Amino acid sequence: MTRVLYPGSFDPVTKGHMNIINQAGVLFDEVIVAVMQNPLKKSYFFTLEERIEILKEIYRKLDNIRIILGSGASVDIALENDCKSIIRGLRSLSDYDYEVQLQQINKDISNNRVNTICLFADRDYQFISSSMVKEVFNLGKDISTYVDPVVNERMKQKKMLLDK
Ligand code: ADP
Repeated sequence: MTRVLYPGSFDPVTKGHMNIINQAGVLFDEVIVAVMQNPLKKSYFFTLEERIEILKEIYRKLDNIRIILGSGASVDIALENDCKSIIRGLRSLSDYDYEVQLQQINKDISNNRVNTICLFADRDYQFISSSMVKEVFNLGKDISTYVDPVVNERMKQKKMLLDK
């Protein structure tokens, strides 16, 4: 059985992330999506629990996509879950610069036991980022082109709660 880890903050999960998950699902028997909290990032729109809930709802019918809470180093989560590789998605040159450094560090700290595989989202999804989605949403504009209906609904609900 081949398993791969896809770590990220998914705040919120976008159609870009989902395109990468679909591609990974074709390449591997199981994709483990680890929802992470970056201690250096000050604020999130959704809590860690909400981000996990949303992903679980979206993928509830797919047995080969597992959603977990990820804490600590991605390579440790990968090894604990029997994954020999980590998937990262590439959008731009700036993603590339960061990912090149990250994959080397991950190789070093895992003693070469965990490799990184980079995938590219299909053309229509390449430019989508969680931060762009939040910006468009905060301007009161429609985000349904960029996210699953589950995310769209949960963002509206959360905004109503925050506005109260
Ligand atoms: P963000 O969207 O804020 O960069 P994440 O940490 O949630 O952040 O992203 C997890 C992984 O998904 C990263 O490797 C990121 O580069 C990748 N990713 C995010 N959006 C896309 C996209 N539209 N196309 C390809 N990869 C993506």
